[in-house]
Amino acid sequence: MPLLEGEGREVDVAIIGSGPAGLTAAIYTARADLKPVVLEGEPSSTSDQPGGQLMLTTDVENFPGFPEGVMGPELMQRFRDQAERFGAEIHTVKASRVDLSQQPYGIWVGNASANEPALRAKALIVSTGAQSIMLDLDREINMVGHGLSTCATCDGFFFRDQHIAVVGGGDSAMEEATFLTRFASKVTIIHRRDSLRASKIMQQRAFSNERIRFMWNSVVEAYLGDSALSGLRIRNVNTNEISVLDVTGCFIAIGHRPNTGLFAGQLPMKESGYLLTKANSAATELAGVFACGDVQDDFYRQAITAAGTGCMAAIEAERYLESLH
Ligand code: NAP
Repeated sequence: MPLLEGEGREVDVAIIGSGPAGLTAAIYTARADLKPVVLEGEPSSTSDQPGGQLMLTTDVENFPGFPEGVMGPELMQRFRDQAERFGAEIHTVKASRVDLSQQPYGIWVGNASANEPALRAKALIVSTGAQSIMLDLDREINMVGHGLSTCATCDGFFFRDQHIAVVGGGDSAMEEATFLTRFASKVTIIHRRDSLRASKIMQQRAFSNERIRFMWNSVVEAYLGDSALSGLRIRNVNTNEISVLDVTGCFIAIGHRPNTGLFAGQLPMKESGYLLTKANSAATELAGVFACGDVQDDFYRQAITAAGTGCMAAIEAERYLESLH
């Protein structure tokens, strides 16, 4: 069934976002015969695209059930196929506006100032994910999965005995660098200033690790290598001196941005923009609105935990809808 601007079609469950969280919620709500309508997003040149962050990942070796590993896009296609098999209606479109001031909740696509929304949903599951903040350099998106990564837990294993760079000076960078020393022969932290933002304890852990060294006052200017990363061009911000760092891996750890702009002023958020959910639940403060996956998780950020909270959101949405009858 097409999703038409301004149609105001009433549905039981709408799901915004199609990463592991949203599609798991779709599988569960579809199997509960709730006929979920999924707005999966639209392809774009940035990291914001249907399927979420796994679409930018090559090998995934830590998702249970795939002992040989699986490519990120293939894994997401399998999630999608499974949701469609049970009747989830998936639309390749972005929500342009939501109105959570009254039930059923309005969801617009296309023209956000149209009078009527495209959908009115009794229950809404928000799974719009988060994005790693990147350096915005040439060929950056193409390099992800080919030496460039944003997740040491996911990809550190691939860099055994190699020299790796980590960019950033906060807790994430220290944590990623320290974790990566389990695999790497050497880790170089590249930071744009001469002092760290990270907490003292995380700094100390990095300073005392003999496999970690620091490049201060330095920024990455280019990714080197054709099909895979072979080095970084670095500029010293004080002297403008250019150097090349020979690394085969580079982890960007300069923060994450949750995709919550659509819900500003309508759903409670942390100061950092992540949606707030109740303890041990996917429920938000608003009855019938649930949040799952990275949009509400600034700690684990894993596909498997996103899928887990997607399942929670679906079961809670199902019980909420039952309670309305
Ligand atoms: P963060 O604290 O915002 O630090 C980001 C770092 O990246 C800063 O050092 C910043 O440099 C640098 N940076 C930002 N944009 C940059 C750019 N375009 N180019 C180069 N460098 C750039 O982010 P985070 O480390 O991800 O931490 C986020 C929050 O999670 C923090 O509250 C942190 O404490 C928490 N966290 C805690 C733990 C833990 O306790 N185990 C682990 C991870 C994260 P400047 O310093 O110059 O601004």
